[in-house]
Amino acid sequence: METREELNAQAEALLAKLPPAAELKAPQRMAIPQQPMPAQDPKERIRNNHEVAIGYTEAQARLEALRCLQCPTKPCVAGCPVGIDIPAFIHAIAEGKDSEAIGIIKQTSLLPSVCGRVCPQERQCMKGCTVGKINKDVGKAVAIGRLERFVADKERETGSVVPPAVAAPTGKKVAVIGSGPASLAFACDARRAGHDVTIFEALQKSGGVLSYGIPEFRLPKDIVQKEVENLQSMGVTIRNDFIVGRSRPLKRLFEKDGFDAAFIGSGAGLPRFMGIEGENLIGVFSANEYLTRANLMRAYDTEHADTPFYHAKRVAILGGGNVAMDAARTALRLGAESVQLFYRRTMGEMPARAEEIEHAKEEGVEFNLLRNPVRILGDENDIVRGMEVLCYELGEPDASGRRSPVAVKGSEYEVEVDCVVVAIGNSSNPLLPSTTPELKTNARGNILVDENHETSMRNVYAGGDIVLGAATVILAMGEGRAAAKAMNERLAGER
Ligand code: FAD
Ligand code: SF4
Ligand code: SF4
Repeated sequence: METREELNAQAEALLAKLPPAAELKAPQRMAIPQQPMPAQDPKERIRNNHEVAIGYTEAQARLEALRCLQCPTKPCVAGCPVGIDIPAFIHAIAEGKDSEAIGIIKQTSLLPSVCGRVCPQERQCMKGCTVGKINKDVGKAVAIGRLERFVADKERETGSVVPPAVAAPTGKKVAVIGSGPASLAFACDARRAGHDVTIFEALQKSGGVLSYGIPEFRLPKDIVQKEVENLQSMGVTIRNDFIVGRSRPLKRLFEKDGFDAAFIGSGAGLPRFMGIEGENLIGVFSANEYLTRANLMRAYDTEHADTPFYHAKRVAILGGGNVAMDAARTALRLGAESVQLFYRRTMGEMPARAEEIEHAKEEGVEFNLLRNPVRILGDENDIVRGMEVLCYELGEPDASGRRSPVAVKGSEYEVEVDCVVVAIGNSSNPLLPSTTPELKTNARGNILVDENHETSMRNVYAGGDIVLGAATVILAMGEGRAAAKAMNERLAGER
């Protein structure tokens, strides 16, 4: 594996041989190899919690930007849920105008250093990229997210971030419930319009899943905290350890506390379980609990934190999404000797980001595909000692279009494990709907909203995972912005 210095030297050498950007023809652009993301060595990184992907150097970013063909039809933009003007920001990077590039991104996205790191790019902006199509490999498309991260990191690291300007006070009070990406984006746009904005967050730290779900080695927490601080510097008030629906009912915020409008961004924090025998045994965790202990309560930092943690040697992870990859890689960093992942389908159907799967493999996570436990086995003290696993094969496509797994009769076998982490998905957080009967939900418990993101309660808006079900950071952020636009118009008397 090449070091960042080696990758940089190669990029510099190649750049020196190329004509100026304006003179580069399409075949020359196509001949530039995709720039690999410099990363910590797998053997080193499983012993620390620092970020795995280190980020492009200047030379790598310039070279990668030169791969962009500046397609007039912009197929990449169609794949970005918030429609960032991708060719324009990449052109600016190719010209060395990095502050112009971040300005273009920020017209649409409020969290570029986060999205550049965690967006499932190969299923979004990179999917339609012409360069990937010509190469017949989406992985070879222009590395849009890495470029986005490069300019966002540069802006933050050089201290050039300027919080958005705030309009004159409107005298209106707005409550924001939750502090995940949907709420952060909503709060920013509501405050920009001049409203008095208060975020109520149930946990002691703000940021939602960005703080307590996605691990430090994938998304450093100081980046999330910087976004939170930017909001505070704009005048947004944050009240942590405040659970709306328990600490105070939602309606009271309006009736007693004088709020004029509210946004619910309470997320999808309710873990799903398999419903199989043995899930109550000691040593079985939801990925939510497992990751929250590790991230928010810093269980990995054994020198400074005294968070109780279940130290296991052989860990089984159930699931194939980002949450499963995060749990598996966290288990390795917490000292597990073996981590086995069990997934009912094959690699092709795995919903996790391609980079996460790749990194998990490099780090030694064992992938057991077309396998799922039917029973978790305990010892005489009800402590996990193993699992009974059933094999599957792929059948016909189901409603999601993915080929559905069909159990192979009589294929059960036992594996020895001492910890099982269930990462098969999350449902919407039920607290607010259950304590606010006026809020209408669908059968899955997601809050129902109209085309303006307004709920069944007037002036109460909602967005992100609580509306969409477990989704993505960029979708949550986009929903927060759309809801803020509608609410700002309502409070201005335009609707
Ligand atoms: P959340 O981020 O869930 O935030 C909701 C917040 O509301 C929480 O802080 C919660 O404490 C608070 N809250 C809830 N109820 C109340 C209440 N009653 N009062 C006050 N506060 C309340 N997406 C990607 O795009 N890429 C990834 O790589 C990725 N990896 C993920 C890894 C993990 C482990 C998890 C769990 C999710 C991942 N996701 C990923 C999904 C993504 O993080 C979510 O889609 C996104 O965070 C949703 O944002 P949100 O603002 O709707 O809610
Ligand atoms: Fe791609 Fe996400 Fe950036 Fe959009 S926000 S361009 S999908 S990385
Ligand atoms: Fe550039 Fe790819 Fe977008 Fe074309 S599709 S403009 S090559 S990023």
